[in-house]
Amino acid sequence: MSQPSEQSGGQRSSASHPGSPLGETGELEALQGLASTELTERYNASLMGVFGTPQRVLVRGSGCVVWDADGREYLDLLGGIAVNALGHAHPFLTSVVSSQLATLGHISNFFTSPTQIALAEKLLVLAQAPSGSKVFFANSGTEANEAAFKLARRNDGAGAGTARTRIIALENAFHGRTMGALALTWKQAYREPFEPLPGGVEWVPAGDADALRAAVDESVAAVFIEPIQGEAGVRGYPEGYLQAARQITEEAGALLIIDEVQTGIGRTGAWFASEGIIPDAITLAKGLGGGFPIGALITFGEHVSSLLSPGQHGTTFGGNPAATASALATLHVLESQGVLAQVRDTSAALAAALQELDCVTEVRAHGLLVGFDLATEVAPAVARAGLEAGFIINSTGPATVRLAPPLIITMEQLRGFVDALPELYATAIAQEN
Ligand SMILES: *Cc1c(COP(=O)(O)O)cnc(C)c1O
Repeated sequence: MSQPSEQSGGQRSSASHPGSPLGETGELEALQGLASTELTERYNASLMGVFGTPQRVLVRGSGCVVWDADGREYLDLLGGIAVNALGHAHPFLTSVVSSQLATLGHISNFFTSPTQIALAEKLLVLAQAPSGSKVFFANSGTEANEAAFKLARRNDGAGAGTARTRIIALENAFHGRTMGALALTWKQAYREPFEPLPGGVEWVPAGDADALRAAVDESVAAVFIEPIQGEAGVRGYPEGYLQAARQITEEAGALLIIDEVQTGIGRTGAWFASEGIIPDAITLAKGLGGGFPIGALITFGEHVSSLLSPGQHGTTFGGNPAATASALATLHVLESQGVLAQVRDTSAALAAALQELDCVTEVRAHGLLVGFDLATEVAPAVARAGLEAGFIINSTGPATVRLAPPLIITMEQLRGFVDALPELYATAIAQEN
């Protein structure tokens, strides 16, 4: 799998642009051959420090494997945070996006294109949306939620004699980083430096239908729920919670808005993790474009789909031909190759294998969105040891590891990680002591 670079020492990172005209531009040529340490220094000198120092400089990927500027190989068990559904450099996705860019890449929303229409129609079919349902395209998860937030504000109770000023979200929720989506996000450390945020948001305990029922009345415009809380460590809810949320919101006339940015498009082994209920809106992003930036808001039924009227929302890039082609290509591969069924099988095998390990106390596998807890609070150290050993994984808490690999990953590939985990755990324990 690994393709060691021809050049040695200082010339390694040139392997990142085989045949690309960009490799010969002055800007990139100046960086060719620099080792990770030097590139990281250049990063820290030129990029804003909001992400901290990056863990590695990656130059190339193929399938479920990526390579860094020093030629080291990694099995990608995070998939760009649940984004690279088809892995890296997927031939069909690459060819579709390249040829779309060579035909028509961007046009603005003064115009439409067949790819945009085809993708909207396809998403409405996959979502089993009733007639009158509509799609709005954005470029990211936070933007999809931003649109949903504005949609919620338009459910203002006008004409019904009530003012719907409140929005309910769940404790531990993550909905994004722009001001509206941030206002919905639970973690105070993310929100506080940016207050005042859009007002009216309240949080109730996640998974508690009684708490939701007590909070929701005719003053509530919308309830935002992730079907599984990804950033919170891959946590689902008790059986029947989403159904209860649907009933509670329906009775109060509040919108039920499901944030499937992380869980949607096959991640959990279904097209949507919220299958089984008909919400008022679903937001999508991460896996939708297979790595190309795209987000979407799906509104269900005629009434909700007309809450935002012409001129009330917009975007320059959203839904452009290149982005919508990337999503059509991704959906085509997932559907034609039977990937969702494969995700369900792989998930069950992975969960069973993890459960057998002494160092693992709990496994929460929802398709290939997998959280597991370790017997000791060493998850960040396990993630660091994993990287050293060639595995990209992510800790979402002191004892919790999250995996969100490409949906096309095989159990054979995952087996390598499961077999290595006890040793990574031992290394982490030794480091902590
Ligand atoms: C990642 C994520 C977002 C934000 O998406 P971005 O593309 O990073 O803006 C919103 N909601 C959920 C549930 C997410 O996992």
